[in-house]
Amino acid sequence: MKVKRTQVGIIGAGPAGLTLARLLFESGISTVILEAKDREYVENRIRAGVLEKGSVELLGRAKSDARLQSNAQIHKGIEISLNGDRCRVNLEKLSGGKHVTVYGQTEITIDLIEVHTKLGGEIIFEASNVIPRDFETKTPVIQYESNGDLTELQCDFIAGCDGFHGISRSSIPPSKLKFFERVYPYSWLGILAEAPPPSKELIYASHERGFALYSMRPPTRSRLYLQCENNTTLDHWPDEVIWNELRCRLGVKDAHLIQEGEIIEKGVTPMRSFVTEPMQYGNLFLAGDAAHIVPPTGAKGLNLALSDIFYLSNAFTSFYDTGSTKELKSYSKTALSRIWKTERFSWWMTSMLHKASETDNFEDRIRLAELDYLLSSEAALSSLAENYTGLPY
Ligand SMILES: Cc1cc2nc3c(=O)[nH]c(=O)nc-3n(C[C@H](O)[C@H](O)[C@H](O)COP(=O)(O)OP(=O)(O)OC[C@H]3O[C@@H](n4cnc5c(N)ncnc54)[C@H](O)[C@@H]3O)c2cc1C
Repeated sequence: MKVKRTQVGIIGAGPAGLTLARLLFESGISTVILEAKDREYVENRIRAGVLEKGSVELLGRAKSDARLQSNAQIHKGIEISLNGDRCRVNLEKLSGGKHVTVYGQTEITIDLIEVHTKLGGEIIFEASNVIPRDFETKTPVIQYESNGDLTELQCDFIAGCDGFHGISRSSIPPSKLKFFERVYPYSWLGILAEAPPPSKELIYASHERGFALYSMRPPTRSRLYLQCENNTTLDHWPDEVIWNELRCRLGVKDAHLIQEGEIIEKGVTPMRSFVTEPMQYGNLFLAGDAAHIVPPTGAKGLNLALSDIFYLSNAFTSFYDTGSTKELKSYSKTALSRIWKTERFSWWMTSMLHKASETDNFEDRIRLAELDYLLSSEAALSSLAENYTGLPY
């Protein structure tokens, strides 16, 4: 068996693992990232796209924001459509001057990998049989295979940034963790299309046939979603049905805004809220989707992963600068406080905008009253704007 040594061993080259590696590199702390997939796969995964101010600032600190600064779109508002009546929410005015930045997670990943590898950071793609162990001791190890070699990566700490289905969380004895979960009774059918988006800003549409989200991947593509049943398959959704449904849920007045184009990606995403407590066991620290999931309605998954990395990178830096373990010990508590507020917001947006049940007409009326109240109350809209643009770190 080969032996390697680093200070922080990172499992997963998603936005969480890559941003952590960049920030630690900038502080002179050594890392090795072990990633199960190949580089091409990681760089082509299409996911989130709406960034809070704190996320943009963190990518700046990670020296990976050059393309973002020149190519991203600034959005100062969103639109909410209720059965075809559209209302603009002025995020900037309601949040005291804040906005969101639209820039795809795919591009963020490409930027982080490019900068990190160019500066000499180590990412081992296609690492298989990755096993974190001995993390309850002071000498944790990550065992992995690469190009047929079995290697033991010795480190001071392990960062489990390997997403919801990764190995890190499941390596911790279940008796040491608590899980909190909600599975929603609907999913999202998402498409990426070579077509101009219907609006310059995101449209969240609540319609009696179900929710739809109209968003974009600048400069020319539309990223569009439809609420669908959990057990749906892509056979139920030929292109023509998708375009008709997108028009219908935007309402008669706005249907003409939908411009069709080639659909280049189609997929179904289940909706789930999930939190693990605590996010640390011994010298193994969980961050991002490895520790928590939100339904995508509030555009928070990627932003939460990055806020975890803000806290975790500061804690590692403080340890290596001063020897203090104070921030490492409080990492889980500090991160969870922000995570639960964001879980609440994502659950609220999801429950309010989706048609939940054919049978519970009381719940559906309450949901519509909530939307009606939101659109008629500056106080309620300000709360939405404060959360949507991102709570402070
Ligand atoms: C289909 C889909 C659509 C989404 N859309 C949105 C959206 O519109 N808006 C939004 O805010 N959020 C969205 N999200 C959520 C958002 O993309 C995630 O919150 C974000 O990717 C979390 O980053 P992460 O680095 O924690 O995890 P990930 O991005 O999941 O990265 C984890 C990495 O670990 C690797 N890995 C896994 N297991 C192992 C292992 N055993 N060994 C080594 N490596 C491993 C994976 O290959 C991956 O590269 C979406 C998620 C999915 C799945």
